[in-house]
Amino acid sequence: VDAAQVAAEVPADNHSAFVRAQAAIPGGVNSPVRAYGSVGGDPRFLARAAGPYVYDVAGREYVDLVCSWGPALLGHAHPEVVAAVQEAAARGLSFGAPTVAEVELAEEIRRRVPAAERVRLVSTGTEATMTAIRLARGVTGRSVIVKFAGNYHGHVDALLAEAGSGVATLAMPGTAGVTEASAAETLVLPYNDLAAVEQAFTERGTQIAAVIVEASPANMGVVPPQPGFNEGLRRITREHGALLILDEVLTGFRVGPSGWWGLENEQVRAEGGEGYTPDLFTFGKVVGGGMPVAALGGPAAIMDQLAPSGPVYQAGTLSGNPVAVASGLATLRLADESVYAHVDAVADTLATAVGHALDAEGVQHTVQRAGSLFSVFFGPFAAASGVRDYAQAQAQETFRYRAFFHAMLEAGVNLPPSVFEAWFVSAAHDDEALARIVEALPAGARAAAAATA
Ligand code: PLP
Repeated sequence: VDAAQVAAEVPADNHSAFVRAQAAIPGGVNSPVRAYGSVGGDPRFLARAAGPYVYDVAGREYVDLVCSWGPALLGHAHPEVVAAVQEAAARGLSFGAPTVAEVELAEEIRRRVPAAERVRLVSTGTEATMTAIRLARGVTGRSVIVKFAGNYHGHVDALLAEAGSGVATLAMPGTAGVTEASAAETLVLPYNDLAAVEQAFTERGTQIAAVIVEASPANMGVVPPQPGFNEGLRRITREHGALLILDEVLTGFRVGPSGWWGLENEQVRAEGGEGYTPDLFTFGKVVGGGMPVAALGGPAAIMDQLAPSGPVYQAGTLSGNPVAVASGLATLRLADESVYAHVDAVADTLATAVGHALDAEGVQHTVQRAGSLFSVFFGPFAAASGVRDYAQAQAQETFRYRAFFHAMLEAGVNLPPSVFEAWFVSAAHDDEALARIVEALPAGARAAAAATA
């Protein structure tokens, strides 16, 4: 790193950067979990990133297991993605008119997930889920939305109740500013509990517009669906005329070429099952490769209800932005089978190494996986039974993660600053990056073992 250049661009000292940030930005950050609220200390202000590494303002290098919270599937600043972005930027930053590249991105999504016959591009995952629920309400003429505790779908009013991610990290009971009227139209059910879903539909089936669910939840830590759960949601929603919205913002094009839906259906069909297809998919993160692109997709009969072909309004000055679309398209075109095989192998190695390191120090835990996503849950209950829902995720020994996180950071490994987030790996995590993480683990495990509540 050219230290002089970094110093010229940003304050060299991390603490002074955070102090300065707090005077200008609420909490010093533009998204809550970045603030290290649950692990303590100053967030690292980053100056640049390359491959599996990020560099803070003082030039310190960390192996990165955040990967921008998912988008950096190929690693940071992949040269071909950066070149595509630079070429697009040179042709103009934003037109507010349709482009062929947007069509190509929609077609690439449809090629991977054929049930997404029509795709609307938006800029964030939040917009994708917000639009999906508006569309579901428009199509069904009903108002109630069912979601699951510990699932996060962005900061949409109706979807913040008992949400995962930052809402879980900050242990917020709810969110000020969400009206009672809006909250009253959201039914929050325990995750992985089909009986609760059956009961809700028995009681209020004619009012429910949609069930929205993370394809495989990763915002309360990684808590995969029990076999048959997603299929059960499909069956129940169909029986009652409600839509099923599969939120693949985090899992889409990260856990496999066709997201969690592709992965799970492959397995279900291999076992002789029929598989399932939701009515609507939402995508984000990898679909923009680090730039603001997200999407929703589904059958033409539903998606064509969106304006201008239908009556459900949705729009965006920067929707389908040409620079962002160039990043997403380049990323998806490079994300071939070898990329998914690599991230799976990296996740295997790391998940095993984390388990061994914690076992060696007698730290009770479980490591849960969904494709290349994984996270650690601490405590005797998690170790004995695994974690199936939000109540169980919350009951873990979060203080152990705090200690583990800081020991790893000290050793040059950037983990998500919350136990309720997944660890993200990339195609750029090579043997050297892996070796550095593995070397750091014993210190992390010792810190976790010594931690007290
Ligand atoms: N849905 C899921 C499953 C997510 O993980 C997220 C973000 O973490 C969102 C929706 C919201 O996406 P965004 O942060 O781009 O608004």
